[in-house]
Amino acid sequence: MSFSAYIHIPFCKRKCSYCAFYSASANDSEIDEYVSALVNQIKATETYGEKLKSVFFGGGTPSVLSAFQFTRILDALNAVFDVSDAEVTTELNPESVRNLLDYALIKRFTRFSMGVQSFDDEELSLLGRLHNAVQAKDAFYALRGFGADNINIDLMLALPGENHLKKLENTLETAISLSPEHISAYILTPENGTPLFDKYGLFNDELSSQAYLMACDKLEQAGYEHYEISNFAKKGKKCIHNMCYWTQQKYLPFGPSACGFDGIHRYRIGCTTDEYIKNRGTVTYSIEETLDDSDLTAEKIMLSLRLADGIDGDMLKPICQNKEKERFINGIVSSSLAKYNERGGISLTNRGFLVSNSIISRLM
Ligand code: SF4
Repeated sequence: MSFSAYIHIPFCKRKCSYCAFYSASANDSEIDEYVSALVNQIKATETYGEKLKSVFFGGGTPSVLSAFQFTRILDALNAVFDVSDAEVTTELNPESVRNLLDYALIKRFTRFSMGVQSFDDEELSLLGRLHNAVQAKDAFYALRGFGADNINIDLMLALPGENHLKKLENTLETAISLSPEHISAYILTPENGTPLFDKYGLFNDELSSQAYLMACDKLEQAGYEHYEISNFAKKGKKCIHNMCYWTQQKYLPFGPSACGFDGIHRYRIGCTTDEYIKNRGTVTYSIEETLDDSDLTAEKIMLSLRLADGIDGDMLKPICQNKEKERFINGIVSSSLAKYNERGGISLTNRGFLVSNSIISRLM
């Protein structure tokens, strides 16, 4: 049996204008205490010696950690798990890339995921990001210079402001010219209560569709495989950690509010960062969801339809026993929102991905 591990780093230097995630700023000694708590939680794990498929440092902004702090966490993981074949990813932001620029540290990761969002300075400022376009490019080159050979760039689509489609075209061309191994492109949906939502409200659906289809076209033409609704990879460079979420594999949570899955239960470490530090990484888990066989099958259909591979014939057949659903499937295929795949099932097209939520809800 093998697991993945998610390591949560809940700190950011400043809040972005669209972000509803819980994160806070912290000084070096607070981060040090947090790292000590994480190391304790890792060392107390009950799955000692387990082979890990992937490790993902997410946040927040993991690159607020110093090289020494990263090393302490990686050493603890190495002492407890077998990570010899694991994909080891950290998220980072361009303005704090320097914390990672250490040859010995870079070698301990197999993948880097950089939050760029846009290569347009006006858009970056509207999003409240701390970097500009030049800093994002410099951070990418710096990682490459230190030997990083597997980099993801995160982009955002359908941003407010003037001429977004033109700016997006430039952003996509710049991203492609850097030739990262992976690009994620998410449609921005502003969360209620964030400064961006207060200023612009809900965004325009038509712009979202145009931006998404433009991103799909450009990235596919540049040779990226569109393997998940918002994710594009060069050959052999799909994100193993995210594939684990999308194919219902098991993962362990480390850090406050991190979520885990054991094949049946979705559970969460339900404490604040302050409580986590105070309890030195001793945690209790609260079960959020218990999935029986039919829940797991329904979820598998939903997750599979968000992947380019789609669902296979074995999953499609029971759905088609319901005549109304069968007619619906014929309808989405004839209107090119879906296509039959070589495994006797269906996959959504790019236009289908745009309305995947309503398609999936009709099939459940
Ligand atoms: S860096 Fe990421 S987690 Fe931090 S505030 Fe910005 S969007 Fe949120």
